Amino acid sequence: MNIRIGQGIDFHRLEPGLDLWLGGVMIPSEHGCVAYSDGDVLIHAVCDSLLGAAGLGDIGYHFPDSEPEFKKIDSKILLKRTYALIREKGYSVINIDCTVCLEKPRIASYTPEMRKVISTIIGTTPDDISIKATTTEKLGFTGREEGVVALAVALLKKTPPTP
Ligand SMILES: [Zn+2]
Repeated sequence: MNIRIGQGIDFHRLEPGLDLWLGGVMIPSEHGCVAYSDGDVLIHAVCDSLLGAAGLGDIGYHFPDSEPEFKKIDSKILLKRTYALIREKGYSVINIDCTVCLEKPRIASYTPEMRKVISTIIGTTPDDISIKATTTEKLGFTGREEGVVALAVALLKKTPPTP
């Protein structure tokens, strides 16, 4: 069996008054991510894990922030395009495991919706998408609420391309 693993990590600064998008879901929050796109740090980490597993480079290569078409783009579109890239190479997703490091807000009640959104885009079931959340015990830039970090690990298998 041809299986491949990939990891992704993403960081964004947090500032008051911006929307907080995580896993394709907008979460009520006092602060949101500073970004060229909608700043969905979790989807960006997922994209990088998929691209990494398929040996296709990284999100900055495929969707550069010098391109006006990516300004304020919905990151779900980036995930759709990333999934198309890995399908072109004959891969499909077995599972993805993610962790979000964020002091607040608490996001556990939103993770079922995020898993549904992500799995719908990449052709899996919500059970194949794990999203964990942790604070960093007030340590570091995440602890000071200056930023957010997301990590993702993806497992892919080689399958014939769908017509
Ligand atoms: Zn990002």
